[in-house]
Amino acid sequence: MKNSTLAVHAGTRHDSVFPGVNSPVYVSTSYPYLDTEERMYPRYFNTPNQMVLAEKLSALEGTEDALLLSSGMAAISTVILGLLKKGDHVVFQPALYGGAYHFAVAELSNFGIDHSFSESADAEAMEKVIRPETRLIYIETPSNPLLEITDIKAIAEMARRRDILSVVDNTFASPVNQNPFRLGIDVVIHSATKYLGGHSDLAAGAIASSREIISKLRNMALSLGGSLNALDCYLLERSMKTLFVRVEKQNQSAVQIAGFLEKHPQIRKVFYPGLPAHPKYRVAAAQMSGFGGMLSFELARIDATVFQKRLKVIRPSMSLGGVESIVCSPAMTSHRHMSREEQEKSGINRQVLRLSVGIEDTEDLIGDLRQALEGIN
Ligand SMILES: *Cc1c(COP(=O)(O)O)cnc(C)c1O
Repeated sequence: MKNSTLAVHAGTRHDSVFPGVNSPVYVSTSYPYLDTEERMYPRYFNTPNQMVLAEKLSALEGTEDALLLSSGMAAISTVILGLLKKGDHVVFQPALYGGAYHFAVAELSNFGIDHSFSESADAEAMEKVIRPETRLIYIETPSNPLLEITDIKAIAEMARRRDILSVVDNTFASPVNQNPFRLGIDVVIHSATKYLGGHSDLAAGAIASSREIISKLRNMALSLGGSLNALDCYLLERSMKTLFVRVEKQNQSAVQIAGFLEKHPQIRKVFYPGLPAHPKYRVAAAQMSGFGGMLSFELARIDATVFQKRLKVIRPSMSLGGVESIVCSPAMTSHRHMSREEQEKSGINRQVLRLSVGIEDTEDLIGDLRQALEGIN
């Protein structure tokens, strides 16, 4: 079956008593242990509503198994701490989600885990900083917030050749547009708070991988304790059924909006992998089936705060991936703890805004951007 069919049906539990179309919500935290080998408990990541999601996400990413957690950062920390031990080394690409960057620079050394950032996300640059103790290579593509593209296959092949595990944060692409496991990556991470959830009303994270790796990570997750409750599991299952219709619409609108912005005199630069002018357009076209609903742009003259306050449909607000369009200043939110120099080095300044394209009418969104850029009421 195709992925859009699996998004609707994979994992669904059918109630044998009242056989409705939806999975029942099993809210119990207490389950029997006599006459069964199974020990069911939410923090063991094995309750029915957790299993529904693990099966659905595995089906979409083409993996053997998956784990659902209480946030994207719970997924990231579980993967890194679960796959590395004291004395190990991890290589990160330079452009990373703010929380992952902070975890790397502020926490890892406390666990005796060393890390390096490569000069760029090219496989050669990442290979250059590999050491004998390197056990993990961590990438994010498209990256937050400037939509940089990493060649997934090149990284996966290089990591395999060096006998190092590879991890990708697949949040921006969603399983609709990109399936890194199918391209040779070992572990796929999602902030399910974003596209998988899709309605800006739940926080969750996910890890998809082989049975062997998930089993290892489940042990770490069980100790770290970031499990997802049954009601949020159900909300997420409900959302994932519409993942394809949402993201396909967002893909289409984002391409048109990027094209509009690229030509507008008030815009200095557009960051979108679906534009042929993007430096990695060919790589993106080869590894993504759609270019996603995220884009960033740099305003030429209008003050970014004035521009945001003029918007009527698009809301200046944090987070991304929901049905509503949201604009956000990375310099004032996710990257505010970076120094000016660090921000500039990452290509971020006060005039750069990130747009999460929702499912509203494309013309309404373009109209809103136009009136805010041109100051017409
Ligand atoms: C939001 C985000 C995360 C962190 O997810 P939370 O659910 O907020 O913990 C990780 N990676 C990317 C790319 C994100 O956008």
